[in-house]
Amino acid sequence: MANPDIVIIGSGIGGATIAAGLAGSGASIVILERGERLTPTPETRSTKSIFLDGYFRPKEMWGEVGGQPFNPGNYYFVGGNSKLYGAVLFRYRKEDFFEMAHFGGVSPAWPFSYDEFEPWYSRAEQLFNVRGALGDDPTEPFHSQPYPFPPVPDEAPIARARAELTGLGLHPSSLPLGVDIEAWLAGGRTPWDAFPNTGVGKMDAESASLAVALKDPNIQLVTGALVEHLETSPDGKAIDAIHYHRNGEAMTLSPKLVILSAGAINSAAILLRSAPGGLANSSDQVGRNFMNHNSAAMLAIDPRRVNGSVYQKTLSLNDYYLSDGNGGKPLGNVQLLGKINGDILRSSVKLAPKFALDYMARHAVDWYLMCEDLPDPESRIMVDGAGIVMQWRRTNMQSLTGLAKVMRETLRACGYPIVLSRPFDKRTPSHQCGTVRMGNDPATAPLDPWCRAFDHRNLFVVDGGFLPNSAAVNPALSIAAQALRVADHICKTDLAA
Ligand SMILES: Cc1cc2nc3c(=O)[nH]c(=O)nc-3n(C[C@H](O)[C@H](O)[C@H](O)COP(=O)(O)OP(=O)(O)OC[C@H]3O[C@@H](n4cnc5c(N)ncnc54)[C@H](O)[C@@H]3O)c2cc1C
Repeated sequence: MANPDIVIIGSGIGGATIAAGLAGSGASIVILERGERLTPTPETRSTKSIFLDGYFRPKEMWGEVGGQPFNPGNYYFVGGNSKLYGAVLFRYRKEDFFEMAHFGGVSPAWPFSYDEFEPWYSRAEQLFNVRGALGDDPTEPFHSQPYPFPPVPDEAPIARARAELTGLGLHPSSLPLGVDIEAWLAGGRTPWDAFPNTGVGKMDAESASLAVALKDPNIQLVTGALVEHLETSPDGKAIDAIHYHRNGEAMTLSPKLVILSAGAINSAAILLRSAPGGLANSSDQVGRNFMNHNSAAMLAIDPRRVNGSVYQKTLSLNDYYLSDGNGGKPLGNVQLLGKINGDILRSSVKLAPKFALDYMARHAVDWYLMCEDLPDPESRIMVDGAGIVMQWRRTNMQSLTGLAKVMRETLRACGYPIVLSRPFDKRTPSHQCGTVRMGNDPATAPLDPWCRAFDHRNLFVVDGGFLPNSAAVNPALSIAAQALRVADHICKTDLAA
């Protein structure tokens, strides 16, 4: 293959969206993706296959410092983790761009403001056809453009939950979603969160961004291409070559620009594997500051009422996002999960009998509590040869305890006599971020505010790794917006010459 102008490593939200942003630039671009495209099979809509058999999970194990090796919930397909995501496309709140004090420490500021970033949030919402409504959520920051589509409708039990929360004086709002509900349900009457997308019902990195990118004949997707390491020029100032394997064959590409978008964990691993001490690592921060939201599932159960929802996931509550409700520090975001059934419960509650789990699931409204995890240099991704080792030091768990307490009281006040909660498994790195962070100071961050490596002028890292903080909302829209911003920057600076 001839050397292109740009190679993008990974076709997740970061990689596919920067490719969409670069479409039409005239640059020749190759996207190297280790996975293949997902196609519709009976397993794609089977709760048993997904949750009990782990059908879509990768065939790899990661190490854990002080723990047992584990099979991570990290997905390798064209479109990356977004193929299975919940398509909640939140903007970070304006306050998340400033330094903010939390119960467990301080969340750092971004190197630019929300106002500067806002135009790209609007562009990302248009690209992902986000459905939502402005005006209900008091924490919603300024939008220069309305959502392109109205919200996904609440099902009847959820409309009732919305009214119950409003009755307590709270401010439930519609989740911003990249979901065309009619198109999704046409493929099967299931929730979409954690279900792989094989069509256009869910707007993910493949169905939204890559679809736009591949209309440009200069952009080519190469699947089954596993990047192993990068090689620098003799002076170390630029990336000279990308080494990868495809169909058992070792291959090399030497583009002018390299955009690493393999996900926060794999991008850090590729950099660490590429040289003693790692590439882009004069700050010694590559792989550090790993964050992954502290979260829990909370089931509000009323034995007198059946929740007959199919998808459920349309409500959010941010009343405890900026403060605990009593003028104290922030707690986090609350949003609905996709509707849970007995099989899904059985994947984490092994010992209870199936009929009891089915009964519980049928009578529950299922919530997801999400709190900010703070950067800690000892919370790290490391490598062991070709393997990945995770050392996740959770921070700020006081917020999750506080949010669980206030939500238990809130849901009881709404009339649910039984409220059960359980923290999410540590080994599901779904909101991974922070491992190759951006900042103004090369001494403390590997990337500048445009995601360019301070140490290597032709290297960008554009995926969850660049996020300096995890905030307490889902990360994908912020990754997509920054990918579009970096694409504009590359067009002006690197491709204009
Ligand atoms: C079940 C689930 C639900 C989620 N729900 C939401 C949600 O509702 N809203 C939200 O905002 N976020 C959600 N997330 C998180 C969201 O999916 C991620 O934040 C986002 O997809 C990250 O994009 P990325 O580009 O950083 O990385 P990834 O999606 O991980 O993409 C990285 C890509 O690089 C490829 N790759 C990796 N290593 C290599 C290599 N060595 N060589 C070549 N290619 C490589 C991978 O196959 C993948 O395609 C969810 C995640 C999961 C798993």
